[in-house]
Amino acid sequence: MNSLFAALPTTVFETMSALARQHDAVNLGQGFPDDPGPRDVREKAAQAVLDGWNQYPPMMGTLDLRRAVADHYRDWQGLDLDPEREVMITSGATEAIAGALLALIEPGDEVVLFQPLYDAYFPLVRRAGGVPRLVRLVPPHWRLTEEALAEAFTPRTKLVLFNNPHNPTGRVFDAGELALLAGFCTRSGAVLVSDEVWEHVIFDGLEHQSVLSLPGMRERAVKIGSAGKIFGMTGWKVGFVCAAPELMRVLSKAHQFLTFTTPPALQHAVAYGLGKEREWFLATRDGLQRSRDRLAQGLTALGLPVLPSAGTYFLNVDLAPLDPGLRDEAFCLSLVAREGVAAIPVSAFYAQDPVESVVRLCFAKTDATLDRALERLSGLGAAIRTKPAAH
Ligand code: GLN
Repeated sequence: MNSLFAALPTTVFETMSALARQHDAVNLGQGFPDDPGPRDVREKAAQAVLDGWNQYPPMMGTLDLRRAVADHYRDWQGLDLDPEREVMITSGATEAIAGALLALIEPGDEVVLFQPLYDAYFPLVRRAGGVPRLVRLVPPHWRLTEEALAEAFTPRTKLVLFNNPHNPTGRVFDAGELALLAGFCTRSGAVLVSDEVWEHVIFDGLEHQSVLSLPGMRERAVKIGSAGKIFGMTGWKVGFVCAAPELMRVLSKAHQFLTFTTPPALQHAVAYGLGKEREWFLATRDGLQRSRDRLAQGLTALGLPVLPSAGTYFLNVDLAPLDPGLRDEAFCLSLVAREGVAAIPVSAFYAQDPVESVVRLCFAKTDATLDRALERLSGLGAAIRTKPAAH
């Protein structure tokens, strides 16, 4: 057996969802919406299964979807992508990330990663033979600094695995931070692989900037997107990879031997969905922003310190100001069992030196679900308020 995989625990998302079921808890842990997704897009998929071609589509993805991806990113992010040479469809963004690591690094190459990191990144980098170099982001600002990057980059840096908007912090990195990162990548010659699956889940009027539009990055960046996140149907597993032809040539070799293709009916429906009117995307953002605000206001009213969230389905509560002794994992285990609310301990997103005072909650839920969670947490709020402040 491979020792790395043999030693891995089950993901924190699976574990917390199982505990949520066991305790009949409101599940604000694993990130998935209550909403079933846009009906017209689901109908397209259903119809395509019935009427359409259910055999292997082209390995790179159906041409209608690759064109739709290029058009969508032109309209929304000002990118100029050749659908035939620079866009590939994968079975989800996780496949795209795994494929990029397998395709782009050699054993011993250094890979810069940012903690807290999505749980798949670290084991995938190591399994591909990469040597992780971790940049540690800390609350409440989770900022990328020049000092931290300077420490992580070395002459052996070959790849950077980035995520923006960022899960679990809800941060959208600003133009200054992105320029800083691009500068380090161009100077070191590293390829920047950017997980941008939350690109449409962004609030307060912010606009997503892809790494492909950063100076010097068009030829050395890989942009990864996800239909599951754009349409709020996380089980669909339809990912998009965008990169210059030289990189794509190698990326497609990994994809052809990982999953080879992605269900054609879903590709057909996603191609339709990406062309939906601008208002639909903006209204979806507004709805999620209202949910974010509802949960944030409710938690704040209970006395829980909420950190800002500018994107993703998540907001975080920092336990440190309440009680510096509280540990996120113990807190989440007690929360699910005693209050009946499941959340995710952010320490699970650190490969080393974890921050252990932050708890992530998913707000991509109906008002009724959020209110039920807040109701259940009200006892906790009272307990916190009567506790003498810790200094
Ligand atoms: N992306 C989801 C989250 O962050 C989890 C996906 C999964 O369960 N693997 O909650």
